[in-house]
Amino acid sequence: MSGFDVSRSHLCARAIHGGLWPDPATGAILTPIYQTTTFRHEAVGVHKGYTYTRSANPTVAALERNLGALEEALPAASFATGMAALAALFLATLEHGDRVVVSDVIYGGTVRLLRRVLGAFGVVTEAVNTADADELREALRARTRLVVIESPANPTLKLTDLALAASLAHEAGAVVAVDNTVLTPVLQSPLDLGADVVVHSTTKYIEGHNATVGGALLTRDEKLLERIRFVQNAVGFPQAPFEAWLTLRGIKTLPLRMARHSATALMVAQWLERQPGVRRVAYPFLDSFPQRDLALRQQRAGGGLVTFELDGGEATGIRLLNSVRLCALAENLGAVETLVTHPVTMTHASLTPEEREAAGIGGGLVRLSVGLEEPEAIIEDLDQALRAAVRA
Ligand code: PLP
Repeated sequence: MSGFDVSRSHLCARAIHGGLWPDPATGAILTPIYQTTTFRHEAVGVHKGYTYTRSANPTVAALERNLGALEEALPAASFATGMAALAALFLATLEHGDRVVVSDVIYGGTVRLLRRVLGAFGVVTEAVNTADADELREALRARTRLVVIESPANPTLKLTDLALAASLAHEAGAVVAVDNTVLTPVLQSPLDLGADVVVHSTTKYIEGHNATVGGALLTRDEKLLERIRFVQNAVGFPQAPFEAWLTLRGIKTLPLRMARHSATALMVAQWLERQPGVRRVAYPFLDSFPQRDLALRQQRAGGGLVTFELDGGEATGIRLLNSVRLCALAENLGAVETLVTHPVTMTHASLTPEEREAAGIGGGLVRLSVGLEEPEAIIEDLDQALRAAVRA
């Protein structure tokens, strides 16, 4: 049975119905949670397509079809975490002696995995400013197997021109992976811009309610997907049925949430720009954002992340983070609650001070993951925290 045919432009219909159908046994409108390790065979060699949940599970398969419909790709391979998805990508594409080029501003865990885990197996990683075409072209002169890009980059929100980077990488014979966690398939389509594979931490906007950790890889390349699925089963880190079910539930409102996150984030960013004591605000759809034209070209909206730096550097930044009340000081991003993070001591603590400095992640940088509360409520809280930070 195939899923309801929702056309490309009908985003909410795709999120709600894409790759899904009522349970054939009962008519249940939501895919049930198939909480089972194993599946009874009708006879030797005769079964309904499922044998053992590490290899495949009907609830997890529903999530994988739904994500595929959203990203306009083959069904996803879904994983226990975003890091597991990245690990599967690396294990599926890299061999001893291979070289990887990564964006210099990228989630700290991605670099840690490449350097400190894959490095021991002979994989060499070079961090490059992928936003600079000349620098990327130069880096690709050495034989490169894989290019990993994050745009907007977490946490500075620096953008990479994905179409240009993908064409340069393809000329050099490399596979191109884009981590699309921060924008989701709702706001950016890297596969349409030339990427070979998209990475998601579904922990963030896709599930969106701070309830699960998860990851996914999406591609239109059957051979690459087959290789990823082999690694997923061989290593054994697939998503679990209950987490898959919660993620499916979250996806139903993803387009609505991304529109609201983006609208509120733009208002908060514009308000922050007007506040005394705020030195710099980064948000891709702000008039002042240096790469705004690129943002308008490759993104459908600005997303929910805003970063800013206060006069007075780290000490003032930390005072602000200690003064918020409605906003929560927490590691995650992309959920209904507004979260504030100090990248230097939290998400990017695994980078060396030199790497952080090169990436522009200073001690005074604050990352705001704008939630779904009223913009006025978020601004009111930031206002009192800013006053407390600057007054002290
Ligand atoms: N990619 C990005 C952009 C992230 O921000 C994160 C986590 O913060 C990850 C990947 C890793 O995902 P997870 O925490 O689900 O393992």
